[in-house]
Amino acid sequence: MDNCIFCKILRGEIPSTKVYEDEKYYAFRDINPQAKEHILVIPKCHVKNVAQADEALLGGLFYTAARIAENLGLNEGFRLITNCGKHGAQSVEHLHVHILGGEQLGEDMNGKR
Ligand code: 5GP
Ligand code: ZN
Repeated sequence: MDNCIFCKILRGEIPSTKVYEDEKYYAFRDINPQAKEHILVIPKCHVKNVAQADEALLGGLFYTAARIAENLGLNEGFRLITNCGKHGAQSVEHLHVHILGGEQLGEDMNGKR
């Protein structure tokens, strides 16, 4: 997708701080971190959000996110979030999972992120 921010990151047109990469997924640090550790995991193919993704892609995405959290040493726990559509406050329309951790997170899951 020509003007998708995350596709531009995948093409190297926008710089990002890489945390992990394989043939299907790419992970990088969020530009506006909401926790001590805030990583975004995205598929290399352009898919709008979870509502558009197939079972294999979603399984792989969440599995990869959990492995990355493990490799980051988040052994006290972490949170995976994916925002979908207007009510979900999705701001970038390229499927992504947020990994939040590195510190105690709040119990309120209806927060900003
Ligand atoms: P959403 O609100 O769609 O779930 O999350 C989009 C996330 O992408 C936000 O947390 C935002 O900070 C992050 N983001 C937006 N543009 C960029 C960028 O150019 N680089 C990086 N690293 N993160 C970005
Ligand atoms: Zn895209």
